Amino acid sequence: MNTDNSKSLFERAQHSIPGGVNSPVRAFKSVGGTPLFIKKAKGAYVYDEDGNSYVELINSWGPMILGHAHPEIEAAVRDAIGNSLSFGAPTSREIEIAELIVSMVPSIEKVRMVNSGTEATMSAIRVARGYTGRNKFIKIEGCYHGHGDSFLIAAGSGAVTMGAPDSPGVTPGTAQDTLLAPYNDLEAIEKLLDANPNEVAAIIVEPVAGNMGCVLPKEGYLQGLRDLCDKHGVVLIFDEVMTGFRLSKGGAQEYFGVTPDMSTLGKIIGGGMPVGAYGGKKEIMEYVSPEGPVYQAGTLSGNPISMAAGLTMLNILNTQPEVYQKLEETGKRIRKGFEEGLEKLGLNYTINSVGSMITLFFTDSEVNNFEDAKKSDTALFGKYFHGMLEKGIYLGPSQFESLFLSTALSDEDIDKIIEANYEVLKKIHN
Ligand code: PLP
Repeated sequence: MNTDNSKSLFERAQHSIPGGVNSPVRAFKSVGGTPLFIKKAKGAYVYDEDGNSYVELINSWGPMILGHAHPEIEAAVRDAIGNSLSFGAPTSREIEIAELIVSMVPSIEKVRMVNSGTEATMSAIRVARGYTGRNKFIKIEGCYHGHGDSFLIAAGSGAVTMGAPDSPGVTPGTAQDTLLAPYNDLEAIEKLLDANPNEVAAIIVEPVAGNMGCVLPKEGYLQGLRDLCDKHGVVLIFDEVMTGFRLSKGGAQEYFGVTPDMSTLGKIIGGGMPVGAYGGKKEIMEYVSPEGPVYQAGTLSGNPISMAAGLTMLNILNTQPEVYQKLEETGKRIRKGFEEGLEKLGLNYTINSVGSMITLFFTDSEVNNFEDAKKSDTALFGKYFHGMLEKGIYLGPSQFESLFLSTALSDEDIDKIIEANYEVLKKIHN
């Protein structure tokens, strides 16, 4: 496979962009080699600057649920562009998308648009603090909530891959208000709540973790969090930046039947445009300025182009239940294919999956939290990753990521993924 153009672009990029990339995980640091520079994508395929094509399993880290350059979304964006790119003033489309989100996501009665998942989580914590009058919050080890200072503590995927879970620049004063508990461990949460009476404003969790690889909540975990939050007057926040509108049209909260007090949403609601949102119960969201005292703002928030893309995408997700059937079926087929491949090869690696999120962990033990995930053989994953790339399959370049499937994958694409997985596993174990 010739990737000379990507190599020379990466060499050039490093002179003007830190590490040659605008977000660390793109740099291929944990798997070695040179990142691919992408020229375009359509449906289930991405194309690099050397003209190679790949079956797409990153999908912009989640949002391209319907595949790339979906004709209806593209048309909506083209249409909106003609009316200018930004006003910094209210538009009717913002109401439409807010009403749609409120109707789709069980926990959301009011919603505020921001520009990224990071802004959504930072703002949600601020509002929870304002609402409760408390300072601390509990974060789950291995969950990633963007790069806000108080979240860069045991932060999963990118941060782990870069070997800097506690980033320089985060002050001890900030870090001391972030309490940590392992995923799937209710006892640890209970201890923290008992040790910090009336001090904890919120618990924030990915209801299915996607940032330590895909890790599912054990039976009763999410409900247990709900009960503990009720008992201690703590705001429960589900960070659904990855799971929202992906696991079901109401996200993981609908899928698992547990309703948090607040939810954070991200890239998916922009159909790929830079967007985030946070929302929740009316009585909490009424604390947000200008209605309430907690300040939060954004010049480009509710940007008309992002809203046009997002509204079109969410309308499709809301009215076409076959989208979720297809995602479920595709996820199941790929999982089954992976399992059969492992069995034929006599390998016992762990596969975690739910709906259209899947991770093959290079470890024989169960993966229920971040410590378990870290037992994976990341060097072997690196070989697997490059082997898959050679076979034309584009995965997230880290063991601590999930595959994100789209409805654009055809039967042939699915067979190709399963076949490549088998061939590559066979090769790297020879
Ligand atoms: N929360 C979760 C669960 C995420 O996966 C991410 C990003 O991947 C974020 C928050 C941050 O979102 P963004 O990268 O848009 O700031």
